[in-house]
Amino acid sequence: MSELINKDKEYIAGTYARFPVEIAYGKGSEVYSFDGKRYIDMTSGIGVTAFGTADEEWVKAVTEQLTKVQHTSNLYYTSPCVELAELLCKKTGMKKVFFANSGAEANECAIKAARKYAANCKGDDFYTIITLENSFHGRTVTTLAATGQAHYHELFQPLTDGFVHVRANDFEALKETALKHKTAAIMIECVQGEGGVIPLDAEYVKAVAEFAKENDILLIVDEVQTGNGRTGELYGYMNFGIYPDIVTTAKGLGGGLPIGAAMLNEKVENVFSFGDHGSTYGGNPVACAGAVSVINRLDSELLSSVKRKSEYVFSALKDAKGVKSVSGMGLMIGIETVRPASEIVRDCINEGVLCLTAKTKVRLLPALNIPDELLAEAIEIIKNACAKEN
Ligand SMILES: *Cc1c(COP(=O)(O)O)cnc(C)c1O
Repeated sequence: MSELINKDKEYIAGTYARFPVEIAYGKGSEVYSFDGKRYIDMTSGIGVTAFGTADEEWVKAVTEQLTKVQHTSNLYYTSPCVELAELLCKKTGMKKVFFANSGAEANECAIKAARKYAANCKGDDFYTIITLENSFHGRTVTTLAATGQAHYHELFQPLTDGFVHVRANDFEALKETALKHKTAAIMIECVQGEGGVIPLDAEYVKAVAEFAKENDILLIVDEVQTGNGRTGELYGYMNFGIYPDIVTTAKGLGGGLPIGAAMLNEKVENVFSFGDHGSTYGGNPVACAGAVSVINRLDSELLSSVKRKSEYVFSALKDAKGVKSVSGMGLMIGIETVRPASEIVRDCINEGVLCLTAKTKVRLLPALNIPDELLAEAIEIIKNACAKEN
């Protein structure tokens, strides 16, 4: 074992089952280990490096800001966060943005906003938030409570009270539960990412959005993974023709620096008053400058190329040997395989391709601008790994 791996094991808290890959540097959709081995990156840091590793435009945006001012606190005005908030509002129709530093924190903000809104409008016993089974909303004690997967909860009881999970795509169950409780909000991922890259049924999403509106229950869409071009639209909800009250995002927004955002529509734009919420790092100028450069590049041409690359991957893998099914949307793709996903990921590493898992599936989240030749090369290697007989 290498020195780096030994020291990592000695000094880093053991929360990650890392693969034996030591990444030294990269460019775009290719990364290199210290010994010079090249990998095609089908993970983009779990959907974070939207334009790949050390992308020139992104590096320029970030370093230019870095040489001006790297941090000020939120006691003063700075321009990158304002520019980013304006961009996000103009492109989504949302009215105001709160900046955080991660997906979990963006969701924490959404949960606080929903609870305050419901307390103001209906009474402070209207605190229940309904989420879906098999969802993933983060690792804080509250976003774990929101996460509808019991195995994440077990060792950390008691979690924050007031979260109820219902089966996805069962509208009657959701309606019944929402009316039985004093419900502040419903929170969904349009495509369940960590849960196995499973898009929700389009009619279900529409029905939930209508029901929420009729009953003045807020609809929160968690776009931490599906956002920022990942599904082939700027935000995943745009594929479903709905208009959420709160949209949270993170991962790809920053292009590689930590940032999260909760976007608030006209119903909730003024829910927070001074002191209700905050973050020392939130809206950090360097992270926001990077995010501005990412969002500015997600134009219709880029989004249609995401859709085109997605179609290519779906058609290449759909009937491939050892592949049971392919799910997902845009460049967020889950592959149900005959062999265990972990073995396929291991074989792909040996052949120079990095991929992810999600539950029992192999998951692909390549950079949105992965060149067609690299995508084809990676898919060929993944196909071979799926087809392999044990
Ligand atoms: C990754 C993820 C989160 C958590 O984001 P962090 O930045 O790790 O806190 C929340 N929701 C969804 C849908 C995610 O995919």
